[in-house]
Amino acid sequence: MYEIRFHGRGGQGAVMAAQTIAEAAILEGKQAQAFPFFGAERRGAPVMAFARIDDKRICDRTQVSEPDMLVVMDESLLDIEPVASGLKKGGCAVVNSSLAPSDIDLGVVTRCVSVDATSIALEMLRAPIVNTSILGAMARADDFVKLESIQQAIMNRFGEKLGEKAGRLNAEAAKAAYDRSREGTCRGERKVQKKNAWLPTWQETPPGVALPKTTKAGMAVGPGSMTQNLTGSWGVSSPVYDDSKCIKCQRCWFICPEGCIRRSEDGVLQFDIRYCKGCGLCAKVCPKDAIQMKRKGAKA
Ligand code: SF4
Ligand code: SF4
Repeated sequence: MYEIRFHGRGGQGAVMAAQTIAEAAILEGKQAQAFPFFGAERRGAPVMAFARIDDKRICDRTQVSEPDMLVVMDESLLDIEPVASGLKKGGCAVVNSSLAPSDIDLGVVTRCVSVDATSIALEMLRAPIVNTSILGAMARADDFVKLESIQQAIMNRFGEKLGEKAGRLNAEAAKAAYDRSREGTCRGERKVQKKNAWLPTWQETPPGVALPKTTKAGMAVGPGSMTQNLTGSWGVSSPVYDDSKCIKCQRCWFICPEGCIRRSEDGVLQFDIRYCKGCGLCAKVCPKDAIQMKRKGAKA
């Protein structure tokens, strides 16, 4: 049995990627399953999805804890999630990164394929939805499913939802990623991070707030846990604010879905980019073009 674990951000299409790879395997006459794992999270928060492929019936329905292939759809997750945990010896990793495999520190030394899926998606699909590009890189990393089957599954799945042209463009993005993928070995210097505990624990909860006591079977989650998910590390672009153009109408403050625009006493806005996911809504509603969205890392 071949097991795959996807690590992505809410909104990146990790679930669709898992379903598409399963469909590609089924097109080749294999058995497959795909399913996601979500927390009580929001767009941009870490999510996982799983896929299993086998020649015979698959009875295991558990999450994949020891994958043959690890797929990291967002490089920034390496800093906040123990993504390499459980990767099988001899397994491989596929990472969305502009770096070569030898420059990627996954926390384990393993075979690795890297691809700048974000740039491919922006170039070919005009949106940072990286799932179809990542699927092409997966075909390059291992031959458990052929690229042609993946492209067919993409056209079926995306074509049905978004139309024939979108299906074809996404299939072409997969091929471009296959061609531009780089193969090598990643580094294992990073200490695999232990996920932070939620804050605060029930013992620390302020007086007057009642939460059930933690039991062996589960855990109580206190208020404030959302502050630990720094969704801003994900966004492809971030707002650049020009105070000289701003008329303090507050439209951007009102529309920001992450509440990361703050107003100081003199009315000047501050953007807490630790939580900004780069949706661009603030720039869209601004009547004075006082906010420009710029790709992260781009020269000013
Ligand atoms: S791009 Fe603007 S609206 Fe979107 S999350 Fe960032 S600050 Fe908020
Ligand atoms: S929408 Fe534009 S003009 Fe209005 S407060 Fe925000 S930045 Fe200023």
